[in-house]
Amino acid sequence: MAAQALHLGWHNPVHITWGCGALYGLQLDQPAVVLADRAALSVENADFLRQSLGTHCAGWAWYEGGLASVEMARQLCQTLWPAMQDPSTTVIALGGGSTLDLAKALRFRLADASLCAKTWRNKQLPAIYERHPLWLLPTTAGTGSEVTRWATLWDTQARPAVKLSWAPMDGFAERAIVDPDLTLRCPLPQSRDCALDTLAHALESVWNKKSNPITQALALEAARTVIAQLPLLLDGHGADATRIALARASLLAGLAMSQTQTALAHALSYDLTLHENMPHGHACAVWLPMVWELAEQSSPACAAMLQRVFDDAQTPGAQQLTQWLGSVGVSPRDLRNSVSGREHLSLELGSARGRNFIGSPIDAP
Ligand SMILES: [Zn+2]
Repeated sequence: MAAQALHLGWHNPVHITWGCGALYGLQLDQPAVVLADRAALSVENADFLRQSLGTHCAGWAWYEGGLASVEMARQLCQTLWPAMQDPSTTVIALGGGSTLDLAKALRFRLADASLCAKTWRNKQLPAIYERHPLWLLPTTAGTGSEVTRWATLWDTQARPAVKLSWAPMDGFAERAIVDPDLTLRCPLPQSRDCALDTLAHALESVWNKKSNPITQALALEAARTVIAQLPLLLDGHGADATRIALARASLLAGLAMSQTQTALAHALSYDLTLHENMPHGHACAVWLPMVWELAEQSSPACAAMLQRVFDDAQTPGAQQLTQWLGSVGVSPRDLRNSVSGREHLSLELGSARGRNFIGSPIDAP
């Protein structure tokens, strides 16, 4: 009897260019505006980009750090939209997750610029807008944003501040140019947090209601790579090869996440980022061992998949993960030991991301 076919519903239209030096192969025959993280782009690379774009460069703005907020996106639109009157103008973004996410908002140019904040808050495009081509070049290894259609914008004017997910159906970039050399300037503490984000994307893709055999393979490879390579990076060994491996892992986890979205650990992380100022990857990582155990309890198939993350099949995986996280400076947390913690957990299991978790009793959105 033939096995039943599985309809994966895989959809990811991003054209990917991968490899060291990919930036130097960049060719563009139409106008472009650039949004770049000032701290992440070397003077040489910025000069190269300006020269290769030449007269095609219609505008340039710097991301100067901080949470990607509605207000920051609004100011960038004010700066760059006047230079984007030609509909073929490509938005080129170079930076970490915040820069790439801001570009995902910026590329939808509204006829009425005064509507932008309302548009992102309501997650609904108005009748008249222009969708510009988008090229994304990550300068950190961790975000995966270059191959997903979601962008996180923080509404810091709301009380309390809230995380908005800007996710139009056609929000994917046209191109992702993943050049591991662009991550060389990334400071070690930030590289660690980004690698932890990759690990979180990979594991969240495994304990996810939308996981399938393809996302599982990508996610497992990504998780195993981070676990093997991040300690080497932090010890200062084999920097180049390690950074290439971590950039590849970030891309693989991003591709898996582009199909499954994230889940419970991400849902729990946003509080820590907002109230404890904890970097995103770190804030996700502190919850991973707890969510791992919950996933194992929820699904024997998921437990079997998680067993493949570490080579040692005898020691419980969550215990190995706790030890590994300790070795890279992360202290995991657990909400199951107090009434208020359990209430918080149950609340997040019902949130948009939490519902993707395999152990959530509520259907995924
Ligand atoms: Zn993340």
